[in-house]
Order: sequence, then structure tokens, then C-alpha cells
Amino acid sequence: MDLYEYQGKQYFARFGIPTSPGAPADTVDEAVAVADRIGYPVVVKAQVKVGGRGKAGGIKLAGDSAEVRAHASAILGMDIKGHTVGRVWIERSSDIAHEYYASFTLDRSAKKHLCMVSAKGGVDIEEVAATDPGAIARCHIDPVDGLTADTAAALVAEAGLHEEARAQAAELLVKLYTCYVEGDCDLAEINPLILTTDGRVHALDAKVTLDDSAAFRHPEWEEFAATETLDPRERLAKEKGLQYVGLDGFVGIIANGAGLAMSTCDVVEQVGGKPANFLDIGGGANAAQMANALEVISSDENVRAIFINIFGGITRGEEVANGIVEALGRVEIAAPIVIRLDGTNAEEGRAILAGRASDRLVSVPTMIEAARRATELAQGATR
Ligand code: GDP
Ligand code: MG
Repeated sequence: MDLYEYQGKQYFARFGIPTSPGAPADTVDEAVAVADRIGYPVVVKAQVKVGGRGKAGGIKLAGDSAEVRAHASAILGMDIKGHTVGRVWIERSSDIAHEYYASFTLDRSAKKHLCMVSAKGGVDIEEVAATDPGAIARCHIDPVDGLTADTAAALVAEAGLHEEARAQAAELLVKLYTCYVEGDCDLAEINPLILTTDGRVHALDAKVTLDDSAAFRHPEWEEFAATETLDPRERLAKEKGLQYVGLDGFVGIIANGAGLAMSTCDVVEQVGGKPANFLDIGGGANAAQMANALEVISSDENVRAIFINIFGGITRGEEVANGIVEALGRVEIAAPIVIRLDGTNAEEGRAILAGRASDRLVSVPTMIEAARRATELAQGATR
């Protein structure tokens, strides 16, 4: 789960990471009241879960309440890369001497945490990585050892942070690591991390992604879940416990196993189709799971055909086929369905499906043929 900047900053504060004093506001009047309370000058910042808000006009400095009123009016309701701004964060403005970058994330291939620090902050870090990779100091951290103060100090020096920022930045880095590990983050990123003109180092932005698998030990995350704005399809899928990612194509995809679901997306692309989603129904593929999956996919208006791709392993083909038939009895489906069933007892499964075959329910033996058929049906369909 991604957090809004203000939530990320509040999360940072729990771990002693310095930020500017501020508060969220949902209306122009509230924004003015918050700014009056905090003291001027302030920054009015759009709260959307997407970067580049500054460039999009979603971050403005304000010297008095009239300016806050003007900026909050302009920013609330603004569209930033497809996200509508419903909330602003007002914080005391900082006088910036230098902008840096700091982050922790998991490097899966190294099986270690990765810390990145750069003296080139405030800009897209992907751009720095592409044009000036030497400007980013990197360090892998063994989760058993953790991040020591010495390693943090060496890292900020290697990154070329200004002398007067180094001690505070190293201390902040250790706190950010604690936040990342104990706070169960997948990503904890500060861009920019700033040195103020009066010599203080603090976080001016916050990008935090929480590890959903750790939610069970964080009852306090409920407040973040409450403000989560999921795509309605993703919300329904989450309620049903499905591994679902909404995409923008027109062929709905159901597969058992994440690897097969990804391959299915690829094969649909290969034959000129566009996947409407990624959906892994997991190992069992029973009637209840299949019905849930079909329900989520059918709620997507862009789906013109559904491709069910099942490889029977421990689950036998006839069980899967019976599950599909039963699910079709439970859910009203507008789009035609193409099924490819293979693996254990595939013949028995296909025989069951053949008994139900129609121009709305087609069983095709191979993956590539099924992808082609589903794409053709989708392209010919009107719904
Ligand atoms: P992003 O564009 O979504 O990454 O939003 P940031 O919070 O990183 O802000 C973008 C830029 O706005 C920063 O890099 C700063 O240059 C500027 N900015 C943000 N807050 C302040 C502030 O308090 N004072 C000043 N002078 N500039 C700020
Ligand atoms: Mg930023």
C-alpha cells in the first residue's frame, strides 16, 4: 500500500525523522486555518500518490492567507496525471540550501536491503541513475547486521553530501532504516532530503510503500487503508482475496498461478490482443474461486472476451471443469469465454466443457490458439 506524502511524513515522525510542521486540509477554508496556525510562509502541497507534483503545479509557496486561499483553490480539484486532488498538505516553508536523495528498498536479487544516497536530489532519481549513475552512492545491507552509524557516515560521505550536512544525514539515515525495517516498508524514500540555510537536515518529501503482507502486525495501518483509493475492480478483487491487477486492454484473463497469468498476458499481446487485467486465482481453481474471478472481470466494462487459462497440477482437470461450469451458473457473464485446459486429466475436463460448448463458451486445446480466439471474439464483440 502506497501512502500519501503527509501520511509518509507522519509515519517518519514516529521514528524520529525530522520533517516540517504541518497538517492536512480538505477545503480552502481549512487550508487557510491550518496555515494561520502554523505560521507563514507555508507550502501548499497536493496530496496525490504520484510523483512530479511540483512540475505539475501542485506545490506552491504562500506568504499570507490570501495566497494560501488562491493556491488551495487552484490545487484542490486539480488533475495531476489522472489523479484528482482531494486533499492538500500545508507545512511551514523551508529555506533550502541543498536538495539530496535517500532511500531504502529491497534488492530481491541480492537478497539484501539497498540504501541509495545522492547529493543530486529534488529531481527524478531515475533520470540521475540514467544520466549520471556515479552520483548515486549505493550500499547493500544484510538484514541480520542492520545499518551501523559508521556505514551510514561512510555512505553520506561517498555520496558527496556537504560537510555540514553529513552528521545529521547519517543519523537520519539510521532512523530511516529503522522506519523501513520495523515499520515494514517496501520502500522508504526521501526526495528531496534537504539541508536548510540554517544548517538543519530534514525530509521535505516522503514516499512510503508499506508491505501489505505485514498488515497483520500493524493494526494502526487501518487509518491508511481507510484513505486508500483503489480502482473499483481492484477493491472488489481485494475483498474476494484475489491476486488482481487492472490493466487497460479488452481481453479478461484468469489463470491459475502467477507465472501462468503473466505468460497468458504475454501470449495475448503476442497475437495482437490487449489484456484487461492480470488475475491469478491460485492453486485450487474451484467453483467459488472461479465465480469470484468471473465476477471481478465481468465488472470491467472494457472486457470484450474472457480467456480462462488453467493448467491442472494437483488439481485435476475434471474438478476444474466442474468448477467452471458451476461458476457460470452462479454469475451472469456478458462476454464470451474461451477456455484452455491442460495438465492432469485435461481430457476428462475438456469432455465436461464440451457438453456445455456454445458460441459463448469455447474450449481450445492450446494456449496460443486460445489467445487468438479470445482476441478475435473480443475484436468482433460489442457489449
Ligand atoms: P514532488 O514534485 O511530487 O516530488 O514534490 P516534492 O515534495 O519533492 O517537492 C518538489 C519541489 O518543490 C522540491 O524539490 C522543492 O524544490 C520544492 N519545495 C517543496 N517544499 C518546499 C519548501 O518548503 N520550500 C521551498 N523553497 N521549496 C519547496
Ligand atoms: Mg519529491
